[in-house]
Amino acid sequence: MTQAAARHSLRDEVAALLATVGAAPDGPSGGGRAVHSPLTGEIIAEIRDVSASEASDAIGRAHEAFLSWRRVPAPRRGEFVRLLGEALRANKDALGRLVTIEVGKIVSEGLGEVQEMIDICDFAVGLSRQLHGLTMGSERPDHRLMEQWHPAGVVGVVSAFNFPVAVWCWNAALAFVCGDAVVWKPSEKTPLTALAVQSLVERVAARFPEAPAGLSTLLVGGREVGEVLVGDARVPVVSATGSTAMGRVVGQRVAGRFGRAILELGGNNASIVCPSADLDLALRAIAFGAMGTAGQRCTTLRRLFVHEAVYDALVPRLTALYASVPVGDPLTSDSLVGPLIDEAAFAAMQAALEEARAAGGRVHGGERQVEGVPAGGFYVRPALVEMPGQTGPVRHETFAPILYVMKVRTLDEAIGLQNDVPQGLSSSIFSTDMRDTERFLSATGSDCGIANVNMGSSGAEIGGAFGGEKETGGGRESGSDAWKAYMRRMTSAINYGDAMPLAQGVTFDV
Ligand code: NAD
Repeated sequence: MTQAAARHSLRDEVAALLATVGAAPDGPSGGGRAVHSPLTGEIIAEIRDVSASEASDAIGRAHEAFLSWRRVPAPRRGEFVRLLGEALRANKDALGRLVTIEVGKIVSEGLGEVQEMIDICDFAVGLSRQLHGLTMGSERPDHRLMEQWHPAGVVGVVSAFNFPVAVWCWNAALAFVCGDAVVWKPSEKTPLTALAVQSLVERVAARFPEAPAGLSTLLVGGREVGEVLVGDARVPVVSATGSTAMGRVVGQRVAGRFGRAILELGGNNASIVCPSADLDLALRAIAFGAMGTAGQRCTTLRRLFVHEAVYDALVPRLTALYASVPVGDPLTSDSLVGPLIDEAAFAAMQAALEEARAAGGRVHGGERQVEGVPAGGFYVRPALVEMPGQTGPVRHETFAPILYVMKVRTLDEAIGLQNDVPQGLSSSIFSTDMRDTERFLSATGSDCGIANVNMGSSGAEIGGAFGGEKETGGGRESGSDAWKAYMRRMTSAINYGDAMPLAQGVTFDV
């Protein structure tokens, strides 16, 4: 197929997919922002950013929506989210394919992202009947002490390109059942999948009598639009997913107005391979963790610490896998690694590899691939780099498929190195020795928000709380009790007696 033909068909396909989910083929008209597919680099749509005043007006409408939505009983709000989950199920194929075309994930991962949305909707439906507070024993006679959780207000969601729809849903499904309205600023690189999701929500809202206009709002635009959302005092909760550089600015901005920020930022994830590891299992897990999504997951495995006893048994096999993993068009079923998001990502990868070489690293792979892939995209052979130590680029997140491999002599050394970076998102250990694995999970083990055993660092389930420590931002989303971040807590003491004892035995006889 010629490049022109490829361009024509991708753009047409995107228009058809958007039409399937009820979105306008080219989004808000007027052009201005060209949307590229990383598959070919071609423009697949032109859409218009919202202005600052449009964004501000939309936040005002979202606040009005919140005022009525908070009065709808939580299980009824859960019914709204159940219908959203149904809409996602019905449109899973179309939305998944759109994710593949706009972000470059392989088909299975595009579909997996939509499945994650469905899963969190199911979770949120159950949660809508479980938004519980506590009753505590009061120290005073004839008193009751209790807490309740109430809706927080408008939740602002700022999302990154690499999970263009699931991150919104992690936040929105919980926020909706918690009684909040949601305003979403997606990545400027992925507005089309956002338009598709917004269209599905609007369809559900249109047949849900209690859903007010403005319950779910999409603000297409770049950083400037995100800044409007983050700076607005009518948005008490801001959930921001993206780079640490972004989070540093957003966190301070939100704190400056005493809002609450849920920060989900960069990772520099590690796995440790112990002498007792099942190496066949480890090999498969490391391959998916490090090369899946072309290394563009926040949880992507970037550092591998291999015990010297198994280094020679594992690393050559891994290197061979790196040389043979199929890289190519993510729409075809035989590709496991699709393209990088854009040329800047390719340049950053090459710069990191250059730095690694200068620091004594031995680089396998990493070059651009042009044979057998669609022209115009930035396809790369994943890079495995044997490093003499944890120096230079190993300490940073480069959002590309680079795995730094280091030899260690003890578990203590491995845990020490693993924790000795500024980021703290995800980690894992490969071992069949329970002393190793329990040590790794203990207070003196991994310092990350996620610590897995005999699996990779990526591919989290929605049932657990997701997030990381240190420069990863400290936020938690998704399962467990992450919902509490989307509500405000009220503590109440109730006196049902006729005396008025004061706490701590204080007397004040008037
Ligand atoms: P990015 O930081 O460039 O952009 C993320 C979002 O922030 C975009 O929507 C962008 O417009 C917005 N933004 C940037 N500056 C802003 C500002 N000052 N005010 C308001 N909004 C602003 O990130 P990216 O390149 O899209 O995504 C890759 C990064 O995201 C990686 O670092 C990855 O690790 C991280 N990520 C983290 C998680 C997590 O859960 N921890 C999940 C996915 C991605």
